[in-house]
Amino acid sequence: MSTYLDSCERCGQYDVAPVAAIADGAFGIVCGYRCSGCRAVWTCSWAIVPGRTMPPEPAAANFLDRHLSALLHEQAAVNRAHKHTAKRDPA
Ligand SMILES: [Zn+2]
Repeated sequence: MSTYLDSCERCGQYDVAPVAAIADGAFGIVCGYRCSGCRAVWTCSWAIVPGRTMPPEPAAANFLDRHLSALLHEQAAVNRAHKHTAKRDPA
């Protein structure tokens, strides 16, 4: 069972599972999402919950994953610059 589910703000699809994630410091991850309904791509930052399944690191196999990977690294960099923010970035 996947975790770190999020909702698509564009079309309202809920329980979207992350397709990839990268580490964000020692206690956080940035998850990348791709909506199965409208194909929107976004990221969301989470505090790691012990015992939950970690999404895989982004693969560089195709353009969509490269795009998502770039978004993930960008978001992680933003998080490093804003360490005081809560577990979830409103981006
Ligand atoms: Zn959507």
